Amino acid sequence: MNELKAEALHATENQSLPKTVAEAENAQGTFLFPGRWEGQMREMTTGEEDMLLNRRSGRDTRTINKVLQACLVSPEVNVMDLLIGDRVFAMIQLRRLTYGDEYAFKVTCPRCNNRFEWEENLGDLKVQYLQDPAWADPEHRFTFTLPKSGKTIKWRMMRGKDEQKLALLRREFPEAIMSSIMALRITEIEGEKMVSRKFLSGLPASDAAAFRGEVESKECGVDTTIAIECLDCGNVFDIDLPIGADFFLPKKVTKTR
Ligand SMILES: [Zn+2]
Repeated sequence: MNELKAEALHATENQSLPKTVAEAENAQGTFLFPGRWEGQMREMTTGEEDMLLNRRSGRDTRTINKVLQACLVSPEVNVMDLLIGDRVFAMIQLRRLTYGDEYAFKVTCPRCNNRFEWEENLGDLKVQYLQDPAWADPEHRFTFTLPKSGKTIKWRMMRGKDEQKLALLRREFPEAIMSSIMALRITEIEGEKMVSRKFLSGLPASDAAAFRGEVESKECGVDTTIAIECLDCGNVFDIDLPIGADFFLPKKVTKTR
C-alpha cells in the first residue's frame, strides 16, 4: 500500500474515534484508551481510597500507581509501561468511575489574586488518539530532523516509568528541565546511541521548540488545559487540570475545606 493510501485510510479510521473522555467509555468501565487499545477499569474500594487519603502515603506516586494497577482490571499490563497519555487517561477515568464527572478545585486568579472554587466536567475533556496504533509498540521509534542544526534524531514516547525518572531529574537538574525531557525521549542522534546532556543543552532553543512541536503532534493523551474565568475580575486564563492526590478526594471533602 502506498503512503498516501495508508494516510487516507488512517484519516477515515480516525474520524470515528471518540472525541472526549466521556465518549471514550464504550460500556460501563470499558474504555478506548488514547493509545487505541480497550481496557476495563473498576472504581476504587474504600481501602484504596483510604490509601490515597493518608497524609503520608497518599501524596506518593507509588501509592497512586498501586491503586491504578489494582483498578485496571484488563488487559494485564504494568501501569509503569503505559504511555503517559494512557496513564493520565486512566487516572481521569478512575476519578469518574469513583466519584462521577464533576471535579471541583481551588484556583487563584493571576491578575487580581482572587481565590475561588472552579468546577470542571471531566467527561468533556478532549482526548487525542494515536494517529497510528502501531506507534504504541515499545520498539517504535520516530525519526525527526532538527530544523536548525540539521541533525536527525530518533525518539520514542514517554511511559509511566519515564515519568518517575523525570521527577528524579527535575530534582537533580532543576535548571535543565528541557534537556531532561529531551534526554528521556531521544534514543539516537545521527545514528549515535549515546545521547549526552552536553549535546542537548548545546542545541539551539529553536530546535528544542521544534522537537516539542513534533512530540505534541505525535503523542496521545487527554488535553488537560482548562480555560478559567475569574468570577471577580473576568480575567480568562489557562491552567493545567490539577491531578495530584486531591484529585482522588470525593467532591464533598473538597467543598468543606
Ligand atoms: Zn481576577
